[in-house]
Amino acid sequence: MINSARSQAEPVESQVKIYSRSEHNISRAQISENALKVLYKLQKEGYKAYLVGGCVRDLLLGREPKDFDVVTDADPEQIRKVFRNCRLIGRRFRLAHVHFGREVIEVATFRGAAETQNDKQVLNNEGRLLRDNVYGTIEEDVWRRDFTVNALYYNIKDFSVVDYVDGMADHKSATLRLIGDPETRFREDPVRMLRAVRFAVKLGFRLHPDCEKSMHQVAELLSSIPSARLYDEALKLFLSGYALQTFEMLRHYGLFQVLFPATENCLSMEENGFPRLLLIRALDNSDIRIADGKTVTAYFLFAAFLWEPVQVRAKEKMAHGLVEFMAYQEAANEVISMQVKSTALPRHITMAMREVWSLQSKFDARVGSKPSRLLIHPRFRAAYDFLLLRAETGGADLELAKWWGKYQEANENEQRKMTQPPRKAQGSKPGRKRSYRGKVKDSASGNDGV
Ligand code: ATP
Ligand code: MG
Repeated sequence: MINSARSQAEPVESQVKIYSRSEHNISRAQISENALKVLYKLQKEGYKAYLVGGCVRDLLLGREPKDFDVVTDADPEQIRKVFRNCRLIGRRFRLAHVHFGREVIEVATFRGAAETQNDKQVLNNEGRLLRDNVYGTIEEDVWRRDFTVNALYYNIKDFSVVDYVDGMADHKSATLRLIGDPETRFREDPVRMLRAVRFAVKLGFRLHPDCEKSMHQVAELLSSIPSARLYDEALKLFLSGYALQTFEMLRHYGLFQVLFPATENCLSMEENGFPRLLLIRALDNSDIRIADGKTVTAYFLFAAFLWEPVQVRAKEKMAHGLVEFMAYQEAANEVISMQVKSTALPRHITMAMREVWSLQSKFDARVGSKPSRLLIHPRFRAAYDFLLLRAETGGADLELAKWWGKYQEANENEQRKMTQPPRKAQGSKPGRKRSYRGKVKDSASGNDGV
């Protein structure tokens, strides 16, 4: 199979541009030692070995790559023989993972070009669609990649950058351009539209006008992608430190509505700007946390994305006579079951989202032993952050949020004082409880037990 793919592709020498070591800024000092070990070892064994993809793109920008991907002309079995610390993964396309403690260097064999994958593969694979599992040459591999800036190869042999698609020029002008006809490439794999947004935001690159135009045309196709893959992509989109800009750009291209249809629905008919404000604040906070080196959790963001749809539904149900508790529980169930059709959500995520939502109403109790019990709830911190988010964006009582801020900081003695029932029911803070309750109902936070 390997030989047949190889023999079909003649090197397109005329198209290739080679940037020698002095013509680019990638130095070996920026490359992970383990990635270098892999490259050198492959070379020593007589194989070609390159870094490719995001790492080359990021190195050229002087950024630290997320990971280092290696491509070679060795096939997976040959790769396995070269490295002891190696495992083959993937069924459709076999890849090698070379393990160095916690760092994993992914080593792939050059992929064959789509055009040269013909009946032979179908026969070979007994009807199973394994057309990806065809190895090829670097000249074929390059055309399977998405953007020109993702198709630059760093050659360990002479430290040059090999460029078949004018990726260097695009890189210099900070342009994301699809290799080949944009519409065809988006149709082939609509996830490339999400990747376009992710890279544009992360790198500060602009989309090539042709690419942009096609995206407007075929955005809808994203809905054909399995929900599990869209969930993975959503995590990459929103947990990488540029969530707010990503959100705006996804909406601009009509992609957000495919990922979060119920949310988009609420946003397009929002009142007072509340849903948008809450979401924007949540996304912004999470970007700030990432910039500060703190962790962010997927469930918190998903809880924020879907909070408004849950509230809208719950209110409708209450208007039809359902009690608040049931209304919120049903609304949460329905919103989650709809959402998983777009982005599959793992069970631990939906459980955590429900908890964050249901704990919102528990904050109302500020007297007696309830506050101290709430404080030790494993989801207290997230639920409190969510309350703060709502309070800051007009969806909950700011005074209540402040009280909880103070309560959790206080020592035991102070906490006891804070939760003591008022001595005289009438004398202390008259009317307060009643007016507060009214407010909570308006903001529909009473989702006890959702
Ligand atoms: P990141 O910094 O997020 O890792 P990346 O460009 O390395 O960015 P990966 O998903 O790790 O992205 O993919 C590695 C490379 O594989 C890409 O640079 C690209 O060349 C190719 N690739 C990945 N996904 C696709 C796709 N859907 N279509 C075409 N090529 C792809
Ligand atoms: Mg990568």
